[in-house]
Amino acid sequence: MKRGEIFEFFRRLAEANPSPTTELNSGNPYQLLVAVVLSAQATDASVNIATRPLFEHIKTPQDMVEFGEERFRDAIKTIGLFNTKAHNVIALSRALIDQHGSQIPRTREALQLLPGVGRKTANVVLNTAFGEETFAVDTHVFRVCNRIGLAPGKNVEAVEAKLEKRVPQPFRRDAHHWLILHGRYTCKARLPECWRCPVADLCRYQPKTLEPSARPARTATPRSSAARTGSGRTAATPTAGRSRSRPTRLP
Ligand code: SF4
Repeated sequence: MKRGEIFEFFRRLAEANPSPTTELNSGNPYQLLVAVVLSAQATDASVNIATRPLFEHIKTPQDMVEFGEERFRDAIKTIGLFNTKAHNVIALSRALIDQHGSQIPRTREALQLLPGVGRKTANVVLNTAFGEETFAVDTHVFRVCNRIGLAPGKNVEAVEAKLEKRVPQPFRRDAHHWLILHGRYTCKARLPECWRCPVADLCRYQPKTLEPSARPARTATPRSSAARTGSGRTAATPTAGRSRSRPTRLP
């Protein structure tokens, strides 16, 4: 996408949703950090279900340490990788108490030294809690950036570097939220909903998905036909001109 197109892309997403934010529930930076750690390879909805009652009384690292790993593990057992995540959350809470006076550090380097905190988690916390212009690349951001030609890259680091370079002001602070929400609700993984997309004319993805009433009648099994575009090609199938890359590692 050209510079002018990128500006227009974000201008339209901003017009539709002027104040985007994370869908993870939290009441302070510490709770946000815990929620983001828990959300790795899990849906925000599943994390919110588990954290809603917990965050009523766990508001600080000290609260978490006193609550204890065993009870915390039990409280988040509906979330994937709950054993490892419970261990990391208790360890990072202890590190915050011992090394940061129970405050959340405001640099990526210090955040990434905490147990269970990778670059994506650090970027989300810096952006959402502290308003930094960081670009957290999750599976939605990675897919959208490659699919539409906004910031193609073979791995999350390459996509993040291109976003750093290409996203203009005044959209830099909220860009990653717009991209996540666009990927989650419109530019979906299996079948992007191009027929109702506000940025379809700016996007490089071809052929665009036709609206349901304009698609040929189904002749295949429900499973295979559900993912077909108007051309009969599966929407998720990479073609020349679009990257075949998937995230090699989600932090
Ligand atoms: S037109 Fe389709 S592929 Fe392009 S951004 Fe919109 S939903 Fe995604």
